[in-house]
Amino acid sequence: MRLLEKSNGNLDRSPGEIGQMIENATEAYAQFLTAVGFDYKADRQTVDTPRRVAKAWLKDLIVGSISSEPKMTVFPNDEGYDGLVIQSGIPIVSMCAHHNLAFTGYATVAYVPAENVIGLSKLNRIVEWFSRRPQMQESLTTQIHDYIADKMICDSVAVSIACKHTCCSHRGIKHGSVMTTNKFSGVFMEKENLIREEFLHAIEVNGTKF
Ligand SMILES: [Zn+2]
Repeated sequence: MRLLEKSNGNLDRSPGEIGQMIENATEAYAQFLTAVGFDYKADRQTVDTPRRVAKAWLKDLIVGSISSEPKMTVFPNDEGYDGLVIQSGIPIVSMCAHHNLAFTGYATVAYVPAENVIGLSKLNRIVEWFSRRPQMQESLTTQIHDYIADKMICDSVAVSIACKHTCCSHRGIKHGSVMTTNKFSGVFMEKENLIREEFLHAIEVNGTKF
């Protein structure tokens, strides 16, 4: 089977390949439960847990690793709009690559259009596609930023992500702090730029969701 060398990479898999992965993962997770001391077949609650976990991974948790990129419909920026386009409160549901535990929160994505504008639902789809993989929040932020800059052919993109990590709240020192990562380019990097200020204000509002 083709293997991903990076945990947050992508290979567009065929339905047949995904079906085989579910079978293999079911077997492997059964072994894992046994290894950590559970006779999962003896309990009616857990007898099908290996298959359930395998399906949860392949159909939801890592679906961004195995599906093709979202269709990006761009429209010509006819009136030459050069203000901020911002989408806040985009839900993030991801999994940390280090512990394979969930992290969740919100992304705020913005850009200043050049030649093209994009349908806003597409920004959500891009965030979803990169989130549904084993990730580091830092890498996720960069991947979303670079993808938008590349596809939109525009210089000014800002991505801010604030998440709570269950690998912090459920193990180790068990704290529920929020981690924020920002990746800016173009005017968003300019000191005292009004568009940058506008974006920073939007992050503040977004941050109150926790
Ligand atoms: Zn972790």
